[in-house]
Amino acid sequence: MDKTKMHPESLMMSFGYKPHLSEGAVKCPIFQTSTFAFKTAEEGKAFFEVAYGKREKGADEELGLIYSRLNNPDLEILENRLCLWDKADDAAVFESGMSAISTILLEFLKPGDLLLFSNPIYGGTDHFIKHFLTKIGIHVLGFTPSDTGADIEAMIEAHPAKDSLAMIYIETPANPTLDLFDIEECVAIAKKYSRSEEERVLIAVDNTYMGPIWQHPLQHGADLVLYSATKYIGGHSDVIAGAVLGSFPLMARVKGLRTFLGNMASPHTGWLLMRSLETLKIRMERQALTAEKVAEFLIAHPKVERVYYLGHLEGKDERHIDIYKRQYTSAGAMLSFDIAGGEKDAFKVLNAMQLVKLAVSLGSTESLAEHPATMTHAGVDEELRDQFNISGKLIRLSVGVEHPDDLIADLGQALDKI
Ligand SMILES: *Cc1c(COP(=O)(O)O)cnc(C)c1O
Repeated sequence: MDKTKMHPESLMMSFGYKPHLSEGAVKCPIFQTSTFAFKTAEEGKAFFEVAYGKREKGADEELGLIYSRLNNPDLEILENRLCLWDKADDAAVFESGMSAISTILLEFLKPGDLLLFSNPIYGGTDHFIKHFLTKIGIHVLGFTPSDTGADIEAMIEAHPAKDSLAMIYIETPANPTLDLFDIEECVAIAKKYSRSEEERVLIAVDNTYMGPIWQHPLQHGADLVLYSATKYIGGHSDVIAGAVLGSFPLMARVKGLRTFLGNMASPHTGWLLMRSLETLKIRMERQALTAEKVAEFLIAHPKVERVYYLGHLEGKDERHIDIYKRQYTSAGAMLSFDIAGGEKDAFKVLNAMQLVKLAVSLGSTESLAEHPATMTHAGVDEELRDQFNISGKLIRLSVGVEHPDDLIADLGQALDKI
C-alpha cells in the first residue's frame, strides 16, 4: 500500500518511526540524551558537514544524529508527522509558540524592513512586534479585519518604508472575536511588493485556532505556518510548545537560527506531542460538534446578547462569508459571547462555572473560559479593544471533549447568576 496516499490520521501512530531501531518498541521511546555517539570519526565529520551546510546531503544520506540542540529522534519524527497535516516540506518544533513566532520574525526581518501585521493579534506576538522589533529598527504597521486589500495597499503606500516591506504576518481567525483575514489577498499584496525572488515578501500565518485540521494556510499560498502547539496539537493543557512549517529553503533558515538560539523543544516535549497527535483529529472533530451545540444554546439564551462563532454567520458581510467558505472546513471549537451586562456580571458567570475551568489557553480536552478584556487582551490598547468589541461583557470559551449536555447545563446555571 502507498502510505503517501493515506490520510494523516492513519499515519500518526507510525510515520517516520522504525521499531527495529529501538529494540522493537512499538512506541517511539523518549531519547533523553544530549549527545549521540558516532560510529567513526569520519562519520562525525560527514554529519557536521551536512549540519553546517558545508555541502549538500547526498541522495541516500540520512541526516546523522549529533547533539540534541541540532536534532533528536523525538523532534524529527514529530516534525515529519506534523508536515502531513499541512502538506509542508519541513517543520521545526520549539519549546513554546512564542519561541516559534519570535524566531521566524528575527530570521526573516532586519533593521529598516517593514512588517505588516493583522490586528487583533495574540498578546505575546503583539508585545514582541511593538516593543521588541521596533527597538531594533523594524517598522511595523497593523491592519484590521475591516481593511480591504485596497485599504492595505493604501496604508503601505503611505508608509515611509513602503519599499522595504518584508513580511505580512496574520492570525486568522483573530482572537477572541473570530474575525477573518483573507490569506490569498495578502499573498497578492506580497507578490506586488516583492522586489525579486530572493527578496520576496513572505506571508506567515498563525494557525493555532484552526490548525492543523480546519485551515491550511500553505495551500492558500502562505510561506510559513505557525502554531502554539500548547493548544490543539498538545491538547491536554500539560505542555508548552510551538511549531513552524514551510518549504525546505525557508525551513533551513528557521532551523539554522533555532540551532543558535537553542530554543528547540526537549525530547520529552516531542514525545508528548507525538502522543497527542494520535488523537488530534478525533479530539478536534468532537470539540467542533460540541461547540456547535453550545453555540446554539448561547444564541437562544436571553442573558446572551451576541455570540461570536464561525458557524453563526448571520449579519456578517459578504466578504467575511466568502473568506470563511474558501479558507475553513469547519467552524471550529472556539467561541466568544457578550452577556447582557458588564464586567461584574461576566465575572459572576465565570465564578459560577463548575465544569468549565476559569483559565486562559485553549484547544484542550477540558473546556476553558476566560475574560479577554481583563486577562488575555489586558495589554491591548483601549482604543483597539473598543474597535474589536473586546468589552467587559465578553467571555471567551474553548470547548473541550465533555458531554455537550453537561457543558450546556453548566453554562445555563452560571448564566442564571446574572
Ligand atoms: C497561545 C498562543 C500563542 C503563544 O503560544 P505559547 O505556546 O503560549 O508560547 C501564539 N498564538 C496564539 C494564537 C496563541 O493562542
